[in-house]
Amino acid sequence: MKQVVVLSGKGGTGKTSLTASLAHLASMERSLVLADTDVDAANLELLLRPERVSEFDFTGGFKALIQEDICTGCGTCMEVCRFHAVRESPDTPGGYIIDRIACEGCNACVHQCPVRAISSKRVIAGRWFISDSPYGPLFHAEMKAGEENSGKLVSTVKKAAVDRCGSTDCGLLLVDGPPGIGCPVIASCAGADLAVIVTEPGVSAIHDLRRILKTVDHFGVRPAVCINKSDINLSRSSEIMEFCDSRSIPLLGMIPFDPVVTTSMSGGYPVTEFDSDTPASVAAGEIWKRLSSRI
Ligand code: SF4
Ligand code: SF4
Repeated sequence: MKQVVVLSGKGGTGKTSLTASLAHLASMERSLVLADTDVDAANLELLLRPERVSEFDFTGGFKALIQEDICTGCGTCMEVCRFHAVRESPDTPGGYIIDRIACEGCNACVHQCPVRAISSKRVIAGRWFISDSPYGPLFHAEMKAGEENSGKLVSTVKKAAVDRCGSTDCGLLLVDGPPGIGCPVIASCAGADLAVIVTEPGVSAIHDLRRILKTVDHFGVRPAVCINKSDINLSRSSEIMEFCDSRSIPLLGMIPFDPVVTTSMSGGYPVTEFDSDTPASVAAGEIWKRLSSRI
């Protein structure tokens, strides 16, 4: 089983639309398992029309909880909370409440409360899903707003997808990773054979590329680059090509700006399935051929 993760140094580069096209193209040649590890803003499912088969709670970090019937209203918890998560209760005069989103679960208030009115417990921070898509099983998730530990949720989704690959005749695990370079990206890279990095010829393209390349290099994952909307700024696209060339980083291809991509996304289809002859689809086909020959 080979594992490819699609990444970008920043959001909005067309990473997910390319992943959806690669899923469509790859599924015609290999048995495929898909994972969307952009758990803070998962949207691959919008293009794959999946049907949910099962779903699971994801338990995140600890949060403090005040038991009102024990609380004496001394205010110590509000004094010790460095995160300003303890507030005066709007409903109970002299009482206190904890803002669940602001609470970091540090337990300072739990230990300082003189009457042990505060407990700390793990909370459901999100959900993860197994779905059937036309291109293969999809493992995906969603974090609740304001919750943390998305790296741990990514690891949970990835492990389930890898286990499915191990128990089936899977030829390729294709992962739509998160943007940026944080914990969820690192968790998404684990075990990958190759990282496809999608960039656009914008002002920060080289800067963003440097950051994500440093990250994947640190974890020993081979990179390859695609330039999306390459014709909107040809000189910057040339700069990106020269940058890749100077570092011996393979360029898998360049995708021209193509309004059909937006139309296909609105309809919920990968552009390669929506219109196989449109320029973006032809470019994605070339990218898949070069990618396939490398894994
Ligand atoms: S420290 Fe304990 S008793 Fe004091 S206000 Fe907070 S919860 Fe109530
Ligand atoms: S657990 Fe820490 S962050 Fe949360 S309310 Fe208590 S002191 Fe504040």
